[in-house]
Amino acid sequence: MLGEQYWMNHSMLRSLFKTGAALALHGTNSDRLLARIGGSHRFPVVIGYHRTVEEFPSDALSTIPSMCISTRMLERQLDWIGRRYRFVSLDELGALMESGNPLPERIAAVTFDDGYEDVYEHAFPLLKKKGIPAAVFVVTDLIGTAQLQIHDLLYLLLARAALKWESAPQGMSGFLASLGISLTPAPGTAMIFPDPHAALETLIGVLPQSAMLSVIETLHAKVTLSQRILQEHRAMSWEAVQEMRAAGITIGSHGRTHAVLPNESPEKVEEEARGSRETLERCLGEKIRHFAYPCGQYDAATIRAVAQAGYRFGYTICKHRDSRFPLLTIPRKMLWEKSCLNALGSFSPSIMSCQMHGSFDFVARCKLKHAPVAA
Ligand SMILES: [Zn+2]
Ligand SMILES: [Zn+2]
Repeated sequence: MLGEQYWMNHSMLRSLFKTGAALALHGTNSDRLLARIGGSHRFPVVIGYHRTVEEFPSDALSTIPSMCISTRMLERQLDWIGRRYRFVSLDELGALMESGNPLPERIAAVTFDDGYEDVYEHAFPLLKKKGIPAAVFVVTDLIGTAQLQIHDLLYLLLARAALKWESAPQGMSGFLASLGISLTPAPGTAMIFPDPHAALETLIGVLPQSAMLSVIETLHAKVTLSQRILQEHRAMSWEAVQEMRAAGITIGSHGRTHAVLPNESPEKVEEEARGSRETLERCLGEKIRHFAYPCGQYDAATIRAVAQAGYRFGYTICKHRDSRFPLLTIPRKMLWEKSCLNALGSFSPSIMSCQMHGSFDFVARCKLKHAPVAA
């Protein structure tokens, strides 16, 4: 498959570059220096994960690879961080930020987005064993249901459809057009989908949730997913949420349905933010203060809506922060199985160090919808 070939070559090159750059930077302590120049040392270190799986999946057809980490790799990354940083809960971090004093240098918080059942099964026992405080941002309408996250469903259907688009004359966009799905590219840009993940990112970037659901419906009529795949992606139960909370895990909101807020109407944004908070507060009997923007996307209107819905802290998935709302745009470093691997596929402490200091953020362009921001 052309798309996959491109992705492989591209990712191998990136990995080689990352290994070389990390060794050079870490060997000279330049990673810390670069972090100072870039200002990332002023930000708290908040790590973000998604799914935690027993074995990292070998094929990209069964899940979105960059949303997975194996329990073994999660332990390696957390051990590395734990030897150099003090883990803090989001409430402790929030109190430190609210105090207005400079943050202590080496503190880190750990978070998990989307509320997958596998986080309860695999990450939670590890966090308990190691005494690491962490937070889980859940999607309230999905808890306790067999419903998949929209991004998972769309990706899985696109990945399966990709097997069919090989023969389509214009690749993915041609394939989607043959299903009656057409997208208008931004003026002056071509709509090119090199692989299912790129297609997913493009669709998430432009479509409101209702339009994504009709793309899913169209694809569903052509492609089927196995029970095993549906089962693997399920959300956790309310019992799991309550058990984790009782064990000290912070529960935050990730919206009612994971709608990407800047693509939605003000009414929908309000319903996502307020509705999910009310549901969680009813279930857990406490105030919910933390909100993670679905897909890390926000704008000034959605930040205000999130604040008005009663949240005190908001979390993104990149290094950018809106200087007018610093507590509502807390940057995070998202990590997964391959974030800290060298070109030979082994865990690299140098790359891990660069990730923690944000050294690669200089080269990686942020494609998220959030404006205006102060870097
Ligand atoms: Zn999410
Ligand atoms: Zn950004």
